[in-house]
Amino acid sequence: MSQPVLVRIDPVTPLPPGTPAPAGRLRLADVTAPAVTVLDLGITRGDGVFETVGVVGGRPQALQAHLRRLQRSATMLDLPELDLGAVEDAVRLAIERHDPGPFLLVKVVLTRGIEGGDGTPTAWAHAFEGSGSLDGSGRGIKVVRLDRGYRSDVAQTSPWLLQGAKTVSYAVNMAALREAARRGADDVIFVSSDGYVLEAPRSTVVLRRGEVFITPRTDIGILAGTTQDDLFSILTETGRTTEYRLVRQEELDEADGLWLVSSGQQISPVVELDGRPLPRYPELDAELLERLRARTA
Ligand code: PLP
Repeated sequence: MSQPVLVRIDPVTPLPPGTPAPAGRLRLADVTAPAVTVLDLGITRGDGVFETVGVVGGRPQALQAHLRRLQRSATMLDLPELDLGAVEDAVRLAIERHDPGPFLLVKVVLTRGIEGGDGTPTAWAHAFEGSGSLDGSGRGIKVVRLDRGYRSDVAQTSPWLLQGAKTVSYAVNMAALREAARRGADDVIFVSSDGYVLEAPRSTVVLRRGEVFITPRTDIGILAGTTQDDLFSILTETGRTTEYRLVRQEELDEADGLWLVSSGQQISPVVELDGRPLPRYPELDAELLERLRARTA
């Protein structure tokens, strides 16, 4: 296992026009040494945002989409505007300094900074080896459906719940995965209390009905997935039909195919939902995985 690489970004906010980037704005740090203080609001309150970028053959995938989503999440949390160029440079530096590997991940984290401080965000990029253990070429995954406990209009009624922002408060998502494990499954599909399909704790849901590939619309308080977006481009380019819409949870029971997609897993076919076996498409899975891994931007 290669050593992870950590790059601190300070400042992560834009410099005044005409100001040259200060030396040491991007700083390589020892991953085994203390890097964040106990006063950091990212730690003490889970107050911050993050992105995880997949890296295949040294190329970060969907990097611009990840950067845009990082800024979108930061804006939803009233965090400052970011210098996305500096973040991009940090991601590229972390990849460059990491030992080459078939599949790396770079996590970018931005917190509200130090409690009682001046509001300067803490930011870093951290490259490490991805496991890829759940990828689509493998055995597929078993999934259970869990109630997320809010309605599909939560983003409109209660924007302070920050649904649709990628915050570092993932304790609920991790608890749902432990619940899945207790039920003998690998992952979860969340549904809203009014019966719509939402997302998985770490990935986007794509289902197949007949010849149409469908993903839930993102105005229901879910994350706009970068992998799903690229997957839909691939499906369209190869002559298949895609659709964004509200998906009733009953449709999961009638699905002709089901996948979870994300930067970390790429594409994982769901072979069982709540104990019911689902149709499998090994050739299609292999084709889609290959095309997703071949992304160059
Ligand atoms: N939904 C949630 C809640 C996630 O955490 C993730 C992954 O980070 C996704 C969807 C998939 O997003 P992406 O494909 O951009 O990795």
